[in-house]
Amino acid sequence: MAELSGRVALITGGASGIGEGTARLFVEHGARVVLADMQEERGRSVAESLGDHAVFQRAEVSREEDVRAAVERAQSEFGRLDCVFNNAGFGGALGPIAELPVEEFDMTFAVLVRGVFLGMKHAAPVLRAQGGGSIINTASVAALAAGFGPHAYSAAKAAVVHLTRSVAMELAPDRVRVNCICPGYIATPLATNTVGRSDAETRAAAPRLVDAPIPRPGEPEDIAQAALWLASEASSYVTGQAIVVDGGVSAGRSWADQPGFWKSYHPIKVYRTD
Ligand code: NAD
Repeated sequence: MAELSGRVALITGGASGIGEGTARLFVEHGARVVLADMQEERGRSVAESLGDHAVFQRAEVSREEDVRAAVERAQSEFGRLDCVFNNAGFGGALGPIAELPVEEFDMTFAVLVRGVFLGMKHAAPVLRAQGGGSIINTASVAALAAGFGPHAYSAAKAAVVHLTRSVAMELAPDRVRVNCICPGYIATPLATNTVGRSDAETRAAAPRLVDAPIPRPGEPEDIAQAALWLASEASSYVTGQAIVVDGGVSAGRSWADQPGFWKSYHPIKVYRTD
């Protein structure tokens, strides 16, 4: 099936992990893609492996001129733009609240929130003029509950969820849909702490991530499939949503994990009325 046949997508953070996996799946489904990333060598190599369906554009997503240029590249290279996946990100500032340096907090928000804002700002007029499109932002389960990421990262991802909703309301009449994806733990260099190392090292570290009710590591493809649906006409009535893809990790915990849970309530027959 070629759900994205003839479509053009800009994918930030496309040199690695979720962005790379999404670029591969989008191309498999007929799209042409611009991969925007600050990792030049890796980004070029991913684009080359996708032949004439992909080009690489160096971009640092917190810089407005870079994001503007990436949007323009999609139009100059492929003649249109249908989908923007604002996905580039990193773990941001680490540490307890009393020790967080202000400049690291600001840098976290510059990449994770300003980067998404700039992607939407520059894509919106193009998509609107074209009669519609799909914007997809990468948030996180860290946006939904505490404990899935560091302070600044979690707050920034929560901002991405709400910015998604707010912009979705503005652009809906123009048939521009805006949604975000909240991944759980996905086996990428970011989550396995193997940024800058080999793919083999990332794969080897993946089993450490298994923490979800579904007992396997999440893969970039799991998120890419959600992005494919959001980019395609199959989701044409969906906007302003945060789609959680996390193996169930944010849903709660199993009742069966409660100590002595079988014995802790009256048997159902106590409640019978006949
Ligand atoms: P990754 O490290 O494999 O890929 C992130 C990519 O973003 C890299 O190629 C990196 O060079 C690029 N990038 C980082 N900062 C950038 C900047 N300022 N400008 C341009 N490019 C930049 O990690 P990933 O897991 O694929 O991360 C993708 C997104 O998914 C991020 O937004 C991340 O926060 C989010 N996320 C990941 C997980 C997970 O478990 N892997 C969970 C929830 C959310």
